[in-house]
Amino acid sequence: MFRQGVTLFRLLGFEVRVDASWLLLAVLIVWSLAAGWFPQAAPGLATAAYWWMGVLGLLGLAFSIVVHEFAHALVARRHAMPIHGITLFAFGGVAEMGGEPPSPRAEFLMAIAGPLTSLGLAALFRLGEGALPAGPVAAVVGYLAFINLALAIFNMIPAFPLDGGRVLRSALWAWRKDVLWATRVASAGGSVFAFLLMALGLFSLIQGAVVVGVWWFLIGLFVRAAAIGGYREQVARSALSGQPVRRFMRSDPVAVEAQTTLQTLVDDYFYRHWRKSFPVVEDGRLTGCVSLDALRDFERTEWPMRRVRAVMAPCDQANTVGQDEDAATALGRMREGGRGRLYVTDAVGRLVGVLALRDLVDYLEVRTGIEAIGDGRRGLREAS
Ligand SMILES: [Zn+2]
Repeated sequence: MFRQGVTLFRLLGFEVRVDASWLLLAVLIVWSLAAGWFPQAAPGLATAAYWWMGVLGLLGLAFSIVVHEFAHALVARRHAMPIHGITLFAFGGVAEMGGEPPSPRAEFLMAIAGPLTSLGLAALFRLGEGALPAGPVAAVVGYLAFINLALAIFNMIPAFPLDGGRVLRSALWAWRKDVLWATRVASAGGSVFAFLLMALGLFSLIQGAVVVGVWWFLIGLFVRAAAIGGYREQVARSALSGQPVRRFMRSDPVAVEAQTTLQTLVDDYFYRHWRKSFPVVEDGRLTGCVSLDALRDFERTEWPMRRVRAVMAPCDQANTVGQDEDAATALGRMREGGRGRLYVTDAVGRLVGVLALRDLVDYLEVRTGIEAIGDGRRGLREAS
């Protein structure tokens, strides 16, 4: 979702990025601190001082959010959940997880680590504020104590995908051993909370607080989309996990031999099958893939002389999957890489098929449809 962000730095193996939308939040924070919070917390200072304090407050907030996300990321890594990085965006921060927690315990520990860290930061900043003489610095530190406490409390609201929602899900999951049901309940909490946020936003709008109102409304929309998305993803994962990729792939894929010329590639593959990329094979083994981009480097007159082998890109984990691997794993790989197709190989690296996202989605829709019919009929029988 946030791959476009600019990388700020790498620490402990995690990349910290900032999304363009964070600028919006940054401006809003500095402005509200300089014009509202600090003139009240430390009256009698020059206007310029309040702006500097606003900028310091923003930096402290960014630091606090990154520390909060690092807590999630470190615990996730301890429990073998891959984290792609930490991103600051319009509504705060996010530690991007690849895959889902392996157990309720792992999810609980990972989720609770963030709010506990914010709570710890709040306590530290409160101590710091007490130790400092009253003035601009103490006011900024006091604000950071407040905002970290607010972060801890807000995140503990039991609304998936907030941390509190994950804590709730892990508890329900441990109780009934049914992660799908647990996700459904926690996501419902997320949706209810999202509507409350939107209502709060509308209420603020009516009261005349336009910026705050729009902000709450947008956060509500975001939480709702994330709650629904999180549930759908869990449905997909539950339906696909335990089933091998082999079951969903299309066999006999169209593959290009490595010694094919670019001219033949254009005439017999691109023009005939209308795909933008093809797997490349040599003696049946998958050795690479070739896309339209490869043609750009050569004049048309060179196409008959050049071979695919020289221009193909190597295949890697991101675009291949083993036929006996879990279909849920394959779906995750497609999502992460933003790919619609994966090349499927057997144990010795031979190309045996192609797995299309479209087919997985169709399968999920059919399966959900049949289950809905089954539920409906069960409901009818129970009612009669
Ligand atoms: Zn968190």
